[in-house]
Amino acid sequence: MRREEYQAFFKEGVQTLKTEGRYRVFAALERQTGKHPRALWHRPDGNVREVISWCSNDYLGMSQHRAVLDAAKSTLDAEGAGAGGTRNIAGCNHFHVELEAELADLHGKEAALLMTSGYVANEAALGAVGGMLPNAIMLSDELNHASMIAGVRASRAEKQIFRHNDIAHLEELLQAIDPARPKIIAFESVYSMDGDIAPIAEICDLADKYGALTYLDEVHAVGMYGPRGGGVAERDEVMDRVDLIEGTLAKAFGVVGGYVAGTDAAIDFIRSNASSFIFTTAPAPALAAAALTAVRHLKQSGQERAAQQRQAALLKEKVAAANLPQLPSVSHIVPIHVGDAATCKQASDMLLEDFGIYVQPINYPTVPRGTERLRFTPGPMHDDRMIEELVTALQHVWTTLNLPRELN
Ligand SMILES: *Cc1c(COP(=O)(O)O)cnc(C)c1O
Repeated sequence: MRREEYQAFFKEGVQTLKTEGRYRVFAALERQTGKHPRALWHRPDGNVREVISWCSNDYLGMSQHRAVLDAAKSTLDAEGAGAGGTRNIAGCNHFHVELEAELADLHGKEAALLMTSGYVANEAALGAVGGMLPNAIMLSDELNHASMIAGVRASRAEKQIFRHNDIAHLEELLQAIDPARPKIIAFESVYSMDGDIAPIAEICDLADKYGALTYLDEVHAVGMYGPRGGGVAERDEVMDRVDLIEGTLAKAFGVVGGYVAGTDAAIDFIRSNASSFIFTTAPAPALAAAALTAVRHLKQSGQERAAQQRQAALLKEKVAAANLPQLPSVSHIVPIHVGDAATCKQASDMLLEDFGIYVQPINYPTVPRGTERLRFTPGPMHDDRMIEELVTALQHVWTTLNLPRELN
């Protein structure tokens, strides 16, 4: 191709997204310590305005927690900005080791392995395990996150998709597979776009029956569920039945990084074989120290979890009373159905421009077409008044844009 043709190709690709209303526009925020969920929005025209964020994954505000900031600052001053290498070559910091021990304990596992992000953890762990078990087959929930799909792909193992949270379908698939073949069931606990929760115990029952390994993504649950924030598996008392638990340090723990926890043997195997763990610079010591502080804090404090659940329940109640079409979430996630990409963007724009309410539209391919939605993540810092004002604003937007009141 000629050089201009490449550029024309790129422009056309983006134009398609714009025509469909799926073009992603990032809102540039200036976060302010101590003010979450309030933040300053830097508009494209250069003006700055205060908004309330309703879609942050800083679920419990831990990114602004005093102890977390102190840990980051003191480590930054004491040890510098970067880790200085990969874990293997000069980059293994004592905070990485401490953090891994803390995470293993959080999930009741023998060991844990810290990664650059939750995405990388899924890609690395599923890729290594599925890729190296001979003739393995991966059974993946149809709504699994992009990072698990990347892990399944990276493994190059055969894959089968089971219908979302559908135990009968999963069993049907398992039954048809040669019992001698290694099988990995990959699924999530809280599905963050719908707010529903997997039947973890039933999936473990099937894994026992058919000799499969279980791999659970608890990214939207760690810090928030279970008496110590060990996730839904801790809450449901099934942690010991799940072989590998993956989590993030970037959502409820408020920092950045991901991990996988399991037996000594499994974690040592992943440590020794996962390319995207081995060949990348280790997380900054200050960030590891900050994450360690957040994990420790949420292990012994249930206050943030309780407040999050309270505010989520309150928002759901108000949304129901306002006759807005919310999806039946059983978690802290509150999704409201719109059903069309362009309208979803329009609703989001109106909330931001007219009400200072920031909620990103959720469109294809994050969710299937026709299920476009606004997705709210209330937390302990969203007070009752903010919830009241949000619902009033939503009423206005739904009426003005004549949005659907029913789920279809
Ligand atoms: C956000 C997310 C990840 C990735 O975690 P990061 O730490 O942000 O890379 C993995 N799995 C699920 C289900 C997620 O929502």
